[in-house]
This record gives sequence, structure tokens and C-alpha cells, in this order.
Amino acid sequence: MAKYTGPRCRLCRREGEKLFLKGSRCYSDKCSFDRRTFAPGVAGRSNRFGKLTEYALRLREKQKLRRTYGMMEKQFKRFFKLAVKMKGNTGENFLQLLERRLDNIVLKLGIAPSIYAARQVVNHGHIQVNGKKVDIPSYLVKKSDVINVKEGSKYAKLAKYFIEERQSILPEWLSLDAERLQGAVLELPVRDQIVIPVKEQLIIEFYSK
Ligand code: SF4
Repeated sequence: MAKYTGPRCRLCRREGEKLFLKGSRCYSDKCSFDRRTFAPGVAGRSNRFGKLTEYALRLREKQKLRRTYGMMEKQFKRFFKLAVKMKGNTGENFLQLLERRLDNIVLKLGIAPSIYAARQVVNHGHIQVNGKKVDIPSYLVKKSDVINVKEGSKYAKLAKYFIEERQSILPEWLSLDAERLQGAVLELPVRDQIVIPVKEQLIIEFYSK
């Protein structure tokens, strides 16, 4: 599947929900989702509230979650397969794995304003986990891991700015020391702590067909 390079706001309108892909703009009155009430394209104007088939419903839910984490299908599916192999509830395992991604942690700590920016910050080697540089966005953090912006990094000033300007709420399973540009994983999140409006059961059904 080709990488989507079009306007990100279009993805929110496509999914019918705010996916928060553009940082502070998403919280402002410039958010195009808040300003427009129909899906992109001419068809969107008539289909948005039309009845979807069961397949389409499952597909939309899967696409919504995948786009929230800005992932390509291949890797997203790999995460799902990993969740299936884990003990316990597959849906909760899947969401927890997605939340544990290092790029997502950087976003949730407020170090970067969007998942795309967070991935770039990790890719460019500005982030350390437990004192060691980790430049793999899909790296999975564990309980008690400490994540920080590398000392002396050129990105530190921007990180400070984004943390100060952040409008999203810090999840209760993370802690943040804004002065030191450092966060920690207090515990791994359970389903109730993952505030994503997604029906994961539909995604399980999508991949189980
Ligand atoms: Fe989505 Fe953010 Fe664009 Fe609003 S501003 S449509 S939430 S990406």
C-alpha cells in the first residue's frame, strides 16, 4: 500500500473523527474538522451518514486507529499479530502495544506536537531511553523506563516550547519532569487509561475474516 502523503486533516474528515494529527492546530478554531461536517470528496457529502456495510464499518475502525498512530498497514498488522499471541484480551493488548511505541510516548509527553513530528524526533536521534539513544520509533517502552531528550540536543529548546504549549492531558500512566525534558513510564496502560474512541472488537473482526 502506498504511503498517504495528502493533507492530514482530510484523514480526520474521512474517518468522521478528530485524529489530532496536526499538533496545536487540532485544538484551535483552525481545525478543519470542526469547520466542516462532511467527509472529503463529493461522495462524502452524501455518504457520511449513510448506512455502511459490516465490512466497511470494520475497515473504517481499523483505518481510524492506524491513522491515529500514523502507521503503515504492514507494521500495524504486525502489531496486531503480536497482540493475538499475547496472553489476555487481544483488543487491550493491541492498544497497549500501540501506546507503548516510543514515538507515541514522545507525543504523549508533549515533546513533539504530532505523531509525525514525534517520529522524526526519534528518527533523528534526539531521544534516549534509560540513558541510551534509541532512534527506532516502534521501540516498545516498558514499565519504569525513563525517556528524555538527549542532553545538548539541538532539539531541546523546541521540546521545551512544545511541552509548555501542550494542550493535551498527560496520561496518568506517564510522569513528566518538564524542566529536565524527561518522562517515565509509571505503569503500562490498561484499556480504561487509553482514551481513544475506538471499538477494537471491530478491528479484531476485520483481521479475523
Ligand atoms: Fe484533524 Fe487536527 Fe486537522 Fe483537526 S486540525 S482535522 S484534528 S489533523
